[in-house]
Amino acid sequence: MADQLLPFWVQCTKPDCRKWRQLTKDIQLTASLAATYRCGMKLGNVKSEGPDHCSQPEDSRVSEVTDSWWHSMLILPPLLKESPASPFLAAYYPDCVGMSPSGSPGSVSLAELRADPCRAVQPQIPGLCPYFQPFYQPNECGKALCVRPDMMELDELYEFPEFSRDPTMYLALRNLILASWHRKCTEVLTAQRCAQHIVVRGLVRVRCVQELDRVLRFMTRKGLINTGVLAVERPLLSERKAVVVVGAGASGLAAARQLHNFGFQVVVLEARDRIGGWVWDDASLGLTVVRGAQLSTDASTTRSP
Ligand SMILES: Cc1cc2nc3c(=O)[nH]c(=O)nc-3n(C[C@H](O)[C@H](O)[C@H](O)COP(=O)(O)OP(=O)(O)OC[C@H]3O[C@@H](n4cnc5c(N)ncnc54)[C@H](O)[C@@H]3O)c2cc1C
Ligand SMILES: [Zn+2]
Repeated sequence: MADQLLPFWVQCTKPDCRKWRQLTKDIQLTASLAATYRCGMKLGNVKSEGPDHCSQPEDSRVSEVTDSWWHSMLILPPLLKESPASPFLAAYYPDCVGMSPSGSPGSVSLAELRADPCRAVQPQIPGLCPYFQPFYQPNECGKALCVRPDMMELDELYEFPEFSRDPTMYLALRNLILASWHRKCTEVLTAQRCAQHIVVRGLVRVRCVQELDRVLRFMTRKGLINTGVLAVERPLLSERKAVVVVGAGASGLAAARQLHNFGFQVVVLEARDRIGGWVWDDASLGLTVVRGAQLSTDASTTRSP
């Protein structure tokens, strides 16, 4: 019933407002509406009255959602509709991985899946590298940087013990974050970018958006998202300590960049008079001669850093 009848709640995107508003029951929340919503916005041909919509007070029920006990009062855990994780998880029951069975149309039908099980392992998402697999398929195990979509890992249980009794909400958020990162791993993933994809009815949407930031920071610290060559405008974490990295080979340089992106002050010590370690190109004769290793960056280009 919660999945069908409750109204959607949406947050004003004006930076100095950010108040939560309840939509009328007939309005369906979409990712694009959540990404653009402003107080008093004309929806379904109805525009609310009043000159300055943002100055209207927020519903008092919104502040109660923040209280720690609120989550434990939920009769049903929230199940997300149209989660970006659904194409990755076609082989799972949606409510085991935090998605609504009524609102998560898989990109493949069960009949198609049975005919071609590889489609579940490699979802058909334009631009997605087939080697990127954030989730295990059922009965699979033993891949690097991969998680089970239907279970919290030990470090997640330590960090978020409040979800140990019913992990559905945590799994829904974490699976959404991982899927969003794998769909576009060339840009820093922010809580704001993920929040628009939280589509769930009722006030629980407010709580989901509030929890998102904490889960996203944990995933970043764990190294599952926001890694690699990214243009980071502000530190990904609020680390302020200094770190020394020994060696400016590929490993040292990658570690230094990631720590710098986290916010650490990084000093790299290199014994030689050049960086690169085994990766070493010589252009002194007018053409490039590879004297060591090359790093493969993707299937179509190979170049030394
Ligand atoms: C011939 C060859 C071809 C290869 N081809 C490929 C390939 O095509 N694709 C691929 O992906 N991989 C390839 N590899 C593997 C790849 O090059 C290495 O795995 C990678 O470069 C190792 O990087 P690293 O940073 O771990 O170590 P290194 O590159 O060895 O870097 C270590 C750095 O630390 C410095 N250092 C060590 N000790 C100290 C110290 N005490 N104080 C200060 N500095 C120190 C060293 O001077 C060095 O610069 C190849 C390797 C070789 C040898
Ligand atoms: Zn507003």
